[in-house]
Amino acid sequence: MYSTRCTYCRQLINLKTEEVRAAVEEATAKKEKIYVMHCPKCRKLVKIQVKHLKLKLPQEIAAPAAEEEQPEPETPEFGVPAQ
Ligand SMILES: [Zn+2]
Repeated sequence: MYSTRCTYCRQLINLKTEEVRAAVEEATAKKEKIYVMHCPKCRKLVKIQVKHLKLKLPQEIAAPAAEEEQPEPETPEFGVPAQ
């Protein structure tokens, strides 16, 4: 959850994790670093740094990367006469 305050009326604004995620996705799609939303009380624009929102998102549990099989090292051919 992300909490901020409206800079105009000091209304406390809480964004649920899903809302934060949606906000980040929306801003990322627009390639914007600032997410802009309307204050629920005074309807003025409230700007939130996307990087601050990202910090509030839970880390995605990444599936463990499958270990790549190491290719067998090529054995040098014997019998090559040294020059
Ligand atoms: Zn406000």
